[in-house]
Amino acid sequence: MPFACDAMIEVAVAMPVNGTFTYRVPEDLGAPVDIGMRVLVPFGRRRATGYVLGPVSATERQDIKPVLGVLDNRPIFPSQSIPLFRWAADYYLHPLGEVIQTALPGGLTVSESPVFTLSDEGRRCLQDTSSTSAERALLRELVGGRLSAESLRTRLGSDFRVETLDSLTAHGRVLRETRLAGGRAKTLYEPRVRHLPGDVDPAGLSGKKALILRMLEDSGDMGVRELAGRVPRAAAHLRGLVQAGLVERYARRVFRDPFGDPIAPDEAPALTVEQQAAVAAVGAARDEFRCFLLNGVTGSGKTEVYMRVAAESLCAGRSVIVLVPEIALITQTERRFRARFGDRVAVLHSGLSAGERYDQWCRILQGDARIAIGARSAVFAPFSDLGLIVVDEEHDSSYKQEGGLHYSARDLAVVRARYCSCPVILGSATPSLQSYYNVRGGKYAELRLPRRVRQRPLPVIRVVDLRTCRDLRGPGRFISAELKTTLDETLAQGDQALLFLNRRGFASFPVCAACGSPLRCRHCDISLTLHQSAQVYRCHYCGFSRPAGAHCESCGSGKIKRLGLGTEKVEEAVRALFPQARIARMDRDTTERKGALVSLLKGLRERAIDILVGTQMVAKGHDFPDITLVGIVCADLSLSFPDFRAAEQTFQLLAQVAGRAGRGDHPGRVILQTYTPDHFSIQTARAQDYEQFYRHEIEFRQALGYPPVTRMVQLRVAGRDPQRTRTFAEEFGAECRALQAADPGLAESIRIMGPAEAALSRIAGYYRWQILLKSPRSGTLRRFVLRLRADCPRRFASRHVRVVIDVDPQFLM
Ligand code: ADP
Ligand code: ZN
Ligand code: ZN
Repeated sequence: MPFACDAMIEVAVAMPVNGTFTYRVPEDLGAPVDIGMRVLVPFGRRRATGYVLGPVSATERQDIKPVLGVLDNRPIFPSQSIPLFRWAADYYLHPLGEVIQTALPGGLTVSESPVFTLSDEGRRCLQDTSSTSAERALLRELVGGRLSAESLRTRLGSDFRVETLDSLTAHGRVLRETRLAGGRAKTLYEPRVRHLPGDVDPAGLSGKKALILRMLEDSGDMGVRELAGRVPRAAAHLRGLVQAGLVERYARRVFRDPFGDPIAPDEAPALTVEQQAAVAAVGAARDEFRCFLLNGVTGSGKTEVYMRVAAESLCAGRSVIVLVPEIALITQTERRFRARFGDRVAVLHSGLSAGERYDQWCRILQGDARIAIGARSAVFAPFSDLGLIVVDEEHDSSYKQEGGLHYSARDLAVVRARYCSCPVILGSATPSLQSYYNVRGGKYAELRLPRRVRQRPLPVIRVVDLRTCRDLRGPGRFISAELKTTLDETLAQGDQALLFLNRRGFASFPVCAACGSPLRCRHCDISLTLHQSAQVYRCHYCGFSRPAGAHCESCGSGKIKRLGLGTEKVEEAVRALFPQARIARMDRDTTERKGALVSLLKGLRERAIDILVGTQMVAKGHDFPDITLVGIVCADLSLSFPDFRAAEQTFQLLAQVAGRAGRGDHPGRVILQTYTPDHFSIQTARAQDYEQFYRHEIEFRQALGYPPVTRMVQLRVAGRDPQRTRTFAEEFGAECRALQAADPGLAESIRIMGPAEAALSRIAGYYRWQILLKSPRSGTLRRFVLRLRADCPRRFASRHVRVVIDVDPQFLM
């Protein structure tokens, strides 16, 4: 029901401001306003996109501003989503309007961006010396016409200062105007033609025209493009037919098809006893909120469980969200669901264009799609009758968004299920410590699939101590004799092998042979990596690159030693060792081009690849029946990260890659090479013993007070000036402690760590510091940060140093 005239409505504005605002629906708006629509509203001296949340009952204020315009002709999110948006804004301490903006498909937000022009006064200043040279440089850029601050920054480079622009604007030398930008995604229409009933004699028509008419009579209507493909020069003939009144043109709404090949429908297999039990347990909770952890070894048939439970939910008239990590998505999860559920599936992920995403979003809104499969943002899919949420590979760190709204899609899935009174299934072979901790604490119910389907055994893992290869020369240092022999055997059997290394590039640690200094990024505190095929040294954090022939920046020597390992070097070694094998590499470098990843996976499925070398991209969820050998080239890389989750992530990664082996009829083998064979992550991954790993790791978290035993909030501080950023961080830390000391309750319940320089102390030119807040209760942390924001507003509004609040941080470096 649209709002009546003069109704007061609550609006969240897509801007970095907290809280919501009240507006009035004016009489002369010309279009109805309803909950879930976007409106244009006055905000300060600008206009902004607002999201209509609901009615505001009573207000004493007289100066309520009117809505200026309506941007949608129907709601673009259901009112049922609003509690989730509010919860996320509250919990992640993020502006509600920006939460909604994050949830909606890209390209929908209309925003007002200021542009700058030269005034007459400014023109005069160009001639005289009343202005500084920096000011004149800026004024000169504007001689050609209006520019945004962003374009000015691009043109002036490091000479650009916001202060200069501000002072010129304040003195009337530069004028600030605004224009509306954005709102890219457009509905797509397909031109079509249809036959008009009439009594014109088709006998008098040319052969081609008669042919077209017959085709249209048979099919009723056709797309113009399809017709052009079947009849030569169809466009000209159509013009004649339209003029003669025999054919009519019209446009039909189309959805851009994000899918590739057609997929054959599948038959559901008979479930194993364990699968049956899992499906029954979830089914029994159909109309209530319950959180299940589906703890099933790799290849145990978790996806089949998801599909059965999803089918039951659809039967009960309720829709389903399936979250998957970005990479696994375009492989089997989507394929399998499409094979079973056909058109009822919609897909949401970053591989789609803005237009495609918008179309998929609309299909869900209109009820045409009943299952949404997608990466983390699909947790916001606009269903109003949700009956189930599945989070596959729930341990995957890609569920946490870094940047903007720092949310965890897994955690939001649980919250959304609670609001919808429906079950949520978190599935993994290597559950996150967090989720398993919740099982132990009785919050989640555990469902187990302890065996692979069809009596397939788990792969046998053999550990090779890389220290014994240290003194060898050439590839023998990282392709051990045992790995080489096993690769030989695998190729001789006609099977496929996977070689995994957690780092791309050729040499990850180039050092000067003359003075020993490492080649570092100019903007980050990071070693550059040599990329041989691209002939550059590249920074993996900011993309900065130097030519492969670059000299040492400290002493100028041209002799650089290429130490350190990367997937490129492994690929080169394998090519030399197995010249007859067909070898491919899968990492971020080889999959940048659109479609490249899909064709690699296709090559693997169709057996056009014998050995695939890759990064963690190969570890995720893939199901290839003919891979019988997995070689883990060096298991230690992620162990050395200065992060309390390093052991957990290593265990998960190793167990997952190992799980890619032996998923078909041949049993699998895994060779795990490591410099630290005695580390418990490696020992427990070798034994594929999650329980054992959990017991060991949770003890360590308990002892040191890390999540999941405690909750954390990270305050990230970053600025371009090293000294200023350090001082800022130190003062901010002191303010945190003062606030804590002022409240005796807080001294007990909160621990403040830092400020400390981040492990990656500089990224892309920004110096980075962090303050960690720990407490047993998330509510305490939230209240503390709210107090901090109220008491030290300067810290959150500084132009030079940015503070980001990250609740439940995942990335601590
Ligand atoms: P997981 O997600 O647990 O790693 P998958 O769902 O990928 O496991 O299942 C592994 C393979 O077993 C798939 O090829 C799947 O089609 C097959 N499968 C699953 N359940 C059954 C079943 N009950 N009977 C026969 N095959 C099954
Ligand atoms: Zn040098
Ligand atoms: Zn860099």
